[in-house]
Parts: sequence; C-alpha cells; structure tokens
Amino acid sequence: MPRRVHQTLLAIAAASCLAAPAAAADVPVTVIRAHALIDGTSAQPRANPEIVIRGNRISEVYTAGTHPTPPGAQVIDLGGATILPGLIDCHTHIFLQGEAPAAGGYDVQLLKFPASYRVARAVVAARRALEQGFTTIRDVETEGAGYGDVGIKQAINEGYIPGPRMFVATRAISTTGGYNLEGYAPEITVPKGAQLIDGPVEARKAAREQLDHGADWIKVYMTHRSWVDEQGALVSQPTLTVEELRAIVDEAHGWRRKVACHAYNGIGLQRALDGGCDSIEHGLEITDAQIAQMVKQGTWLVPTLAVYYYDPDPPDTPSGKRDRKRVAVHGVSFQKALRAGVKIAFGTDVGGFVWSDPIAQEFGREVEFGMTPMQAIQSATSRGAELLGMSAEIGRIAPGAYADVIAVESDPLRDVAALQHVSFVMKDGAVFKAP
Ligand SMILES: [Zn+2]
Repeated sequence: MPRRVHQTLLAIAAASCLAAPAAAADVPVTVIRAHALIDGTSAQPRANPEIVIRGNRISEVYTAGTHPTPPGAQVIDLGGATILPGLIDCHTHIFLQGEAPAAGGYDVQLLKFPASYRVARAVVAARRALEQGFTTIRDVETEGAGYGDVGIKQAINEGYIPGPRMFVATRAISTTGGYNLEGYAPEITVPKGAQLIDGPVEARKAAREQLDHGADWIKVYMTHRSWVDEQGALVSQPTLTVEELRAIVDEAHGWRRKVACHAYNGIGLQRALDGGCDSIEHGLEITDAQIAQMVKQGTWLVPTLAVYYYDPDPPDTPSGKRDRKRVAVHGVSFQKALRAGVKIAFGTDVGGFVWSDPIAQEFGREVEFGMTPMQAIQSATSRGAELLGMSAEIGRIAPGAYADVIAVESDPLRDVAALQHVSFVMKDGAVFKAP
C-alpha cells in the first residue's frame, strides 16, 4: 500500500476512535495464561504470566491475579506450558527442499521442475516454519526461482496461505564462476541459482533490480567453492571484489536495506567485512582479527551450525575432507565470536536440509558451543528482531509488539530440545496451532 494512503487510513481510524469510543469494543481481546513466560529480552523467566492481546498487538503483560480479566476477553489457558515470543529464523530457503543427491540434487530443481511445482513446495515450507513456531523468517534467496519469494510473502500477508512474516532476498548476487549450476559443457547455457555480476556497475544494477522488485535484503555470495589444501587448511574461493560489494552495500543502504553475505573464511570473508556487509552468513572460520573487526563494525553473525552435520561425503574423498573440516572449524569460530561479543542471530539454512526435520535443532548446537539456553532463545527472538530492524515489534512479549506468541510443554531453559515441540502458535493475534 502506498505510504500516503496508509497514513490517510490511519488518520481516519484515529479520528473514528476519538469520535466513537465504543468502536474499541469491536477489537477482539484475548488473554493467554500459562505457567511461565520467557519474554525474549529478560534474563529470567516470569511465573504465572497473563498476556492481554487486543487485535494483533500485545497490550499488557502482568502476573495472573494482579489485574482483572478484561471484560469480554477470550481466555486461552495453556496450563503448565512456557510461553515465548514467536521464533525468528534469519537464514531460510523456502525454495529448497534438502535435495538428496540421488534424486538429482540441486540441479534438477533448476533444470526439470516447473516453477509452479517449486512454488507449491515453497508454500508447504512456509507453513512448516509457522507450525514449528517460527513466526518470522529472513529467506535468503530463491535458488533460481526468481522473485517467487516476493509472491509467497504477499500471499501470506494477504491471508491466502499460512506462513511466517517474511523478509525476502529474491535472487542473490554472485560472480561469473561463483555459483551453481556448473560442470556442464561450456557450449551449453544453463540457468544459475543466483544473479551473476562482474564489475561494480553490474553489481549496483543487480542490487537496484532486486530492490525494485521487492527485495527486503540483498544476499551476496562472497565465497563459493571450498576444499582442504595440502596443509589441511580449509580454503574458499572468493567471488566479488571489495569494489563490487561496496557498490551493492552503498545502493542497499541508500534504500535503508541491508546486505547479508555468505562467507566461509579467508579472502572472501575479509572482503565481506571490508565491503561493509551487515551480516556474515555461516562464518565457518573467522580469524581473531576478523572477529575484532566484526565487533568494531557491529557486523552480525548468523552461524547456521546444524546444517553442516548433514550427509558428509565419504571421509577419504576431497569433498568428504572438506565436509569434516567445515564442522571442525565452525564450532571454534562460534565460541570465539560469542566470547568476543559479536552479535549473533539464529539462522539454520533450513531448505538446505528437509523442512520435515526440526528447525529448532539449531538451539542444541548453539548451547553445545557455549550459549546458555536463554542466550540461544534470545538469538531467535530479540536478537533476530534487532538484526531485522524490528526490535519494538517482534521477538519479544511486551506491550506494543505484534501478538506472535508460542508455547512449549516443557521448560526450554532446562533442555532447549523442548523448542522442537511447539504446542501453540499465534501469529499476528490469530491462533494457528493449539494444544
Ligand atoms: Zn543458505
């Protein structure tokens, strides 16, 4: 909706409220009760909470018995459950389905599947995210499905299909030689999973196109192939130059949008930092100097720990050695970044693994590598919201925030695996899943 029309409607709504206070009675009021509340920002949980929701916003949070229940409110009593803000996954791919190599892997998606088939499965993936309590996702590129994410987001926002709030990155950007599909005869033109650019002019133009067509974020691949060298070190092929990335970052920031950079390690990761990237995706092997630079610049890390444990190739093959090296260095980097105070937001790369697996398995890896359960929860609530520039509205149970509320039956502070079993999901004030 054009901003001016929106403001006009708001003005009309405000005026009608003043003229007729009875109109407030039309706003549905819901009260949620439970055993405990983890609000997304506080260091400690709160016992016996009551949350009042008016329309799609939280209006009050207090201890049960201290306030009268608002007249006419619908009461949802979740008994012994713990309630939390709707979770935020800052690294998803609804257009990927954890492709098994035996079924054609990644390539078959772009070469053989009709766009409608990929969209149909993306609709299912979006619903799966919501079912698992993820009420917001940052979906970081469609892998050859063009601007499909923009349409899915629109269909969710207009209520045609269930799904999380979406921040979309559309096509993503890499360079010639910097993205799949590859390995085909040079005489054959094959589609690419990202928009390939060479030079700052093409880089800026690609960013402009993507922003023009609805990208909330720009995703850039700063490393591509990786392997283990003779000394046993992980090496990653860099893609964009600093100048190319700077053109993209400058353009995106002008639109008040941000840039997420896929970067494993080495030259490409350094260029991502020097080019002013807002979030490093994966960051498998970050040097101490790079961690210091991230702290200084305020660069986020979205680590996606769990996905690298999937399906390693046989250990005696080059790709098998790479797979094992990735896991070995990743946890170390995460621990160093955590200790140094790098801002860390929860992200999983789901879609890289199948949507039927628990997205919340990532919490267990975060805790394994040093986060407290509360820190892990906050990485997927208030910290994720901060990365998305939505701190006041999502990732917290507080007055003014959107009514994105979930519940789990056992205490996630005792065992974060409890977050794999979400029993209640409310998004934007509407109950999507109930016990
Ligand atoms: Zn990814």
